[in-house]
Amino acid sequence: MRSPRPSDSGGRCAAAEGRARAVIMGQMEEAAEMVREVIIIGGGPAGFTAAVYTARARMSPLVIAASPGGQLNLTSGVGNFPGFPDEVLGPDLMTRMRRQAENYGAEIVQESVKEAALGARPIRVTTDGGTHEAHSVIIATGSNPRKLGIPGEERYAGKGVSYCATCDGFFFRDQTVAVVGGGDTALEDAAFLTRFAVKVHVIHRRDKLRGSAIMQERAKSKEKVAFIWDTVVVEAQGEEDKGLTALKLKNVKSGDVGVLPVQGLFVAIGHVPNSELFRGQIELDPMGYIVADERQRTKIPGVFVAGDVQDHIYRQAVTAAGTGCKAAIEAERYVAELQDRGYPGHDEVEGPA
Ligand code: NDP
Repeated sequence: MRSPRPSDSGGRCAAAEGRARAVIMGQMEEAAEMVREVIIIGGGPAGFTAAVYTARARMSPLVIAASPGGQLNLTSGVGNFPGFPDEVLGPDLMTRMRRQAENYGAEIVQESVKEAALGARPIRVTTDGGTHEAHSVIIATGSNPRKLGIPGEERYAGKGVSYCATCDGFFFRDQTVAVVGGGDTALEDAAFLTRFAVKVHVIHRRDKLRGSAIMQERAKSKEKVAFIWDTVVVEAQGEEDKGLTALKLKNVKSGDVGVLPVQGLFVAIGHVPNSELFRGQIELDPMGYIVADERQRTKIPGVFVAGDVQDHIYRQAVTAAGTGCKAAIEAERYVAELQDRGYPGHDEVEGPA
């Protein structure tokens, strides 16, 4: 069927309509241009890797990091990051990652995120420096090891007190160490540390372990591992030049206090994911980790997650970098598709059920 031929006035109307539409389209494109293609929240290995990939994909990423470098800034020698056969200092590795991201065009701002409207379109991220908008966001805010909060813990951090056996175990060859905790991490750390240490004491505040049967069996089967039950560490003691030398312990049932000479203390009492900012908008698991599928996608379209804020098992710089890469590729695909569709849906989307 043929369309009715428009009258002259209809033609003028159509022309005016066309011009108006062109103006509106132009305004929309301009607005779309002011909106970033991607914002990355977090400047650890996950965030900077996502920045390298999205920058190389010409997405001009904005990285918002309150303390660029993340947990690796607190470590000394990193010997398990591929490509550095002679070890690299944690802060050095992060400076290199940052420089690599910037070389490809990533913009990095040292700001603290106050609020993120993940369901808004475009997505809005408000920091102490202003409000940033983007079509996609990669959350890479990491996690922090839970601290004991005892005297001496901070003083001897990096000088005997460690929160990562995989990273630091190597430095305790032929020494006596202690692990605090009764979960899978503590048990895995204890078994791992027997490769280096002459003795590994596992100090647990109860007389029952929380860790899985298999991990319990593995740790208990190691001759070098000894358990100290119903006991808490009340003080980390040491000397300025020697670092950590002993732990003051207290039996929670008898109240007895004693001193255990050790050169290493591995605190393995869990991690706290930095996800509070997003609570109520995004799905968190019972431990507070952000839930993502195998492609780093959350249930909110355009919101991806990488690194330790979604990983309570591996927590390695290299696994964080790996998920940062995956999240970046997914964000690039998402934004490309959005562009193809002319940025539809600039209204609110629903959060997790
Ligand atoms: P968990 O929360 O499972 O265990 C923490 C342990 O630390 C508990 O035994 C707890 O004692 C103790 N603890 C907590 N706070 C204190 C404190 N202030 N002082 C003394 N002790 C304290 O953390 P994990 O890191 O061990 O494990 C986290 C998750 O990761 C788990 O789901 C675990 O299964 C998983 N995981 C799996 C691994 C694997 O499969 N290979 C390896 C590592 C972790 P209490 O028991 O009394 O509460």
